[in-house]
Amino acid sequence: MHTKLFIPGPTEVREDVLQIMSRPIIGHRSKEMTDLYERIHNNLQKFFNTKNEVMVFTTSGTGLMEGSIRNVIQSNVLNCTNGSFSERWYQIALANGKNAEKMAYEWGKSVKIEDVRAKLETGKYEGIALTHNETSTGVRTPIDDFYKAAHDNNALLVVDAVSSLAGDMIDVNKADVIFAPTQKSFALPPGLAIVFISDEAMEKAKKVSNRGYFFDFIAMHDYYVEKKQIPATPAVSLFYALDYQLDKMMKEGMENRYRRHKEMANMVQKWGKDNFKLFAEPGYESVTVTTIENNRNINVDAMRKELRQRGMEISNGYGKLKDKTFRIAHMGDLTPEEIKELLENMDEILSKVK
Ligand SMILES: *Cc1c(COP(=O)(O)O)cnc(C)c1O
Repeated sequence: MHTKLFIPGPTEVREDVLQIMSRPIIGHRSKEMTDLYERIHNNLQKFFNTKNEVMVFTTSGTGLMEGSIRNVIQSNVLNCTNGSFSERWYQIALANGKNAEKMAYEWGKSVKIEDVRAKLETGKYEGIALTHNETSTGVRTPIDDFYKAAHDNNALLVVDAVSSLAGDMIDVNKADVIFAPTQKSFALPPGLAIVFISDEAMEKAKKVSNRGYFFDFIAMHDYYVEKKQIPATPAVSLFYALDYQLDKMMKEGMENRYRRHKEMANMVQKWGKDNFKLFAEPGYESVTVTTIENNRNINVDAMRKELRQRGMEISNGYGKLKDKTFRIAHMGDLTPEEIKELLENMDEILSKVK
């Protein structure tokens, strides 16, 4: 039986998208592949309304958490942490030998612009690493003000939009580096990650030493300019899927896509408040994933098991929130009708599960 995914990645992928990937493989230096990548490149800029550099890497999101730090930070970076993924990013910065400083918030809170501005005004940081949508806690930190604060202080804004880009309304022009993999709000299988890079960030990258090899933004850029190709072998089948999905996304439009996500978020968050409590700080709830505090202490595993028997999957909590919360994703190509069906099933199960 097919289990429909309401988990925050990988998300549910539609049958037509899966079918597209069964096309025969083409050579990665062929004219077809060159055309395919050029089309994807241009459509990404079109959908996200930007002239910023865009690149597609064969990697999961974590690859670009590392790659972004390697490319635009020589030494000093401020990592704002408010959950498990932002914490991981801080560890990645350290693992790459950067002089990373952590500004930690309690899990469930958003990152606050005043604190970041005060830090930036010391002039110490080359950049801020900010997680737009903390998938562990369901918290969204709006990025627009952070971009200005960074640029006022000669620093770059580097954003993990892994679980929100293509679902939430995000202006990629308000970030120097912003990235997301395919298996979250893009509703594609895992395996690719997309990054948008500002001119300032490209200029900075040229001056940074030890950018590494695989994720070198400058090498990717030069290769694209010269050949409209990617230096190493890309996951060809996933490029078919991304190309196809971008057409579907452009038909829907960013605004409508956001509205659909917002409607689903409202439904799940109302349900969460009626039955439990939301984990996120009020006013900062994510548009793509809701973390619900298990304040009734129900047996979450039993509920998930029962749901799975009905062909639906939700997530338990992430990291240290594993047993205290559970998460419902409303991202990608899911519809309000599907969310309604999920919530009705959860109501039924809740009346039985203690
Ligand atoms: C899922 C997730 C990641 C990790 O991405 P992978 O594709 O699993 O490597 C990083 N940051 C956030 C916010 C995420 O939701």
